[in-house]
Amino acid sequence: MGGRWQESTSTDRIGVVDPATEQVIGRVPAGTAADIDAAVSAARAALPGWSATEPARRGAVLAAARDLLAARRKEIAATVSAELGAPPAFASAVHVALPTAVLGSFAEIAAEFAFVEKVGNSTVYQEPVGVVGAITPWNYPLHQIVAKVAPALAAGCTVVLKPAENTPLVAQQFAEILDEAGLPAGVFNLVTGLGPVAGQALAEHPDVDLVSFTGSTDVGRRIGAGAGAAVKRVALELGGKSANVVLPGADLAKAVNVGIANVFANSGQTCSAWTRILVDDARYDEAVGIAVEAAAKYRPGDRLGPLISGRQRDRVRGYINRGVEQGARIVAGGPEAPDGMTTGYYVRPTVLADVTPEMTVAQEEIFGPVVVLIRYQDEDDALRIANGTVYGLAGAVWGADEESAVAFARRMDTGQVDINGGRFNPRAPFGGYKQSGVGRELGTHGLAEYLQTKSLQF
Ligand code: NAP
Ligand code: MG
Repeated sequence: MGGRWQESTSTDRIGVVDPATEQVIGRVPAGTAADIDAAVSAARAALPGWSATEPARRGAVLAAARDLLAARRKEIAATVSAELGAPPAFASAVHVALPTAVLGSFAEIAAEFAFVEKVGNSTVYQEPVGVVGAITPWNYPLHQIVAKVAPALAAGCTVVLKPAENTPLVAQQFAEILDEAGLPAGVFNLVTGLGPVAGQALAEHPDVDLVSFTGSTDVGRRIGAGAGAAVKRVALELGGKSANVVLPGADLAKAVNVGIANVFANSGQTCSAWTRILVDDARYDEAVGIAVEAAAKYRPGDRLGPLISGRQRDRVRGYINRGVEQGARIVAGGPEAPDGMTTGYYVRPTVLADVTPEMTVAQEEIFGPVVVLIRYQDEDDALRIANGTVYGLAGAVWGADEESAVAFARRMDTGQVDINGGRFNPRAPFGGYKQSGVGRELGTHGLAEYLQTKSLQF
């Protein structure tokens, strides 16, 4: 913080565990409320200078950070592989490439964005919100940091980050990168630590102007309530239970294969994963067969990494058991440990069939390699099921033609929908309807979260 590594006020350390080997691979400080306080002071002190820096200059620092990240991509991918357990190919193709692209996008947006506009006799300025407290989870450890820090810095805000306790090492590398990129001291500050200690101190700090949180709905709800009481801005990116809707006439094999890949990537630890596949009655059995075949390609320890912790593994297995108790049929995988694997927090890639919309496994976020197949009768039924959870983060629609798929997607209560396999766009707004969250990340919509407006009349 304040431009250099600083000792914590506590000597407590958090052990970082490789979830594939269950070995401790590093230790980081368990930051305290006093550490958070010092970091917020540093961010406050740096705010006048950074917010007055030309946006193009702020963009140039982000571009330099992007280039440094690209140059260190092998090392960063290895870190994410070690602390998250991501297979090396996925670590470099997604965990490093995605934040690199996002840094690049905000480098451009900072330089291009109209921070001043004329509205009649007014001049409207988009000014930074101030000091941002960012709290991030472990599932996409670098992406989720960059998705908050890059737009905050582009906007002219200063930041204090509390990364997930399970994945702090990549956060430390990112801090080095920002420093090397020429970011002035105090503009970005990192405090590693535990959620209920450092995280809570940051969320509740009176001198933080905006709290941006990604993680569980429970913690998000509490942070939102606290921000409401303090009348401060808050952005929440919470869970999901997204629907992958295969309309009659769509390419079933493609829809199911892409859908399985979407869920099993990152071992199912993706908030936007399409964890419910909805198929019409006539083609349901065929879809089950395709899903089983697709799931067989995800061998634990190879294409399928472990879960982040023993606790998450047990939680996911508990959900599989709960599904069976409520009448679901295991057609691939199951709650047992993968054959011959005694080490690592692995869960078998699991497909549940005969799942009905009210079952727990169709309603709650499982956050593991588990996909459920739900049968529908007609399109209205499919829409009711797709919209029938408390969440609304993402989704997919596959139709015989784009027009029918788009028409269906427009009726979905969700923030993002991929049409017939549309590609992820790092500049498109990402965020939830309903209990999936408040606010948007990425692109100019993501930038807007970190801005407040002032109008001058002439
Ligand atoms: P979590 O506890 O909500 O963690 C998210 C972040 O919040 C972490 O940095 C965490 O610190 C911090 N935190 C925890 N308690 C806090 C508090 N009282 N005040 C302020 N910050 C706090 O999530 P989790 O326990 O890692 O995962 C549990 C479930 O959340 C998952 O099974 C999944 O369903 C969901 N989840 C969703 C996303 C998403 O992208 N939407 C990401 C991760 C998890 P620690 O790391 O020290 O806990
Ligand atoms: Mg936690």
